[in-house]
Amino acid sequence: MLKNGKKYGVILLFIIFITCLYSFFSLQNAGDTPKSKTGLFLGTVINITIYDELSEHEFENICANIFKCLEEIEDKMSVNIEDSEISKINKNAGIQSVTVSPETFYVVNKGKYYCELSDGAFDITIGPLVNLWGIGSERANLPSKENISATIKHIDYNKVLLDEGNNSIYLMQDNMRLDLGAIAKGYAADVVRDYLIEKNVENAIINLGGNIYALGSRANEDHWNIGIQNPVEPRGAYVGIVHVSNKSVVTSGIYERYFMHEDKRYHHILSPFTGYPVENELASVSIVADQAIDGDGLSTTTFSLGLKNGANLLETIEGVDAIFITKNNEVYITSGLKNNFTLKNSDFTLKKTIIDEEL
Ligand code: AMP
Ligand code: MG
Repeated sequence: MLKNGKKYGVILLFIIFITCLYSFFSLQNAGDTPKSKTGLFLGTVINITIYDELSEHEFENICANIFKCLEEIEDKMSVNIEDSEISKINKNAGIQSVTVSPETFYVVNKGKYYCELSDGAFDITIGPLVNLWGIGSERANLPSKENISATIKHIDYNKVLLDEGNNSIYLMQDNMRLDLGAIAKGYAADVVRDYLIEKNVENAIINLGGNIYALGSRANEDHWNIGIQNPVEPRGAYVGIVHVSNKSVVTSGIYERYFMHEDKRYHHILSPFTGYPVENELASVSIVADQAIDGDGLSTTTFSLGLKNGANLLETIEGVDAIFITKNNEVYITSGLKNNFTLKNSDFTLKKTIIDEEL
């Protein structure tokens, strides 16, 4: 009996010891294991990964608030929501101005800025053309030349009147249609970043369908490594890695949304001038910037302008860098990335920085 009691005592002690050891290691590892959550907003997959030590409850709470925030942005700015502020502006085209929230006004105002900067290669009134092609939806189709010519007549950012005093927006011609698809996700990434900072989160990756904000850095390092997608391979195959901290990395490319017709690829960045998907030497452009809204605006803008004009434009903007990938597997980086970009795929050639290279 006594012998048995001793045996059970030893087993009990052993169990207590293992339990303590397990709890000790789970506590040690709590901060090392990132917490991640995925949702669907703004027509894309959103992923938030936080690397700080947070309780499950704190993490769930933060994500719930972020998703609520994203839903509010979508409710204001989506063209696919009947009573969004953008839909109201579109319905009132040629009729009257519409008063909107300061958030929507800010994004439209920023969008108009990039229209001006690109002389209309980027145009937030691209809506009728986006609608005609339907790229990214089940009704994607190759429209007739006549339909395309008729539709591009409704695109003109100069006819977007912004009244800052009243936060009101007026499209001066009927059949005009705003589309913030090229800039709203960047804005949303900034909002999420600001919220995380407010909650004292120091290290996180925000991924809004390829619009990335890298907050803080990886454990024991002073930066994050962000993969730059190979434009001709499935998601997750990288051309190279950019090393950044507290920056957004936003990419526009021919692989993001497209459909194939008679062996030809029709992608989602459309030229307001021709009415067809932009055709130039580029397969993708990634912009590294402080604000994701600028990264988003500039990635679509520089993609539309092409390598030479896009690079020239970036020369005039401070604090912004870029990685251009061409269809013939050349990679051009701006001088600011000289020490912060590593090529990882030998099918691609890293050219000298854009400034040094004869373009
Ligand atoms: P992004 O992926 O940021 O380059 O944005 C592409 C999205 O912006 C498309 O799906 C359209 O909704 C919209 N878009 C397409 N072409 C243009 C353009 N030339 N200017 C502004 N927005 C555009
Ligand atoms: Mg964009």
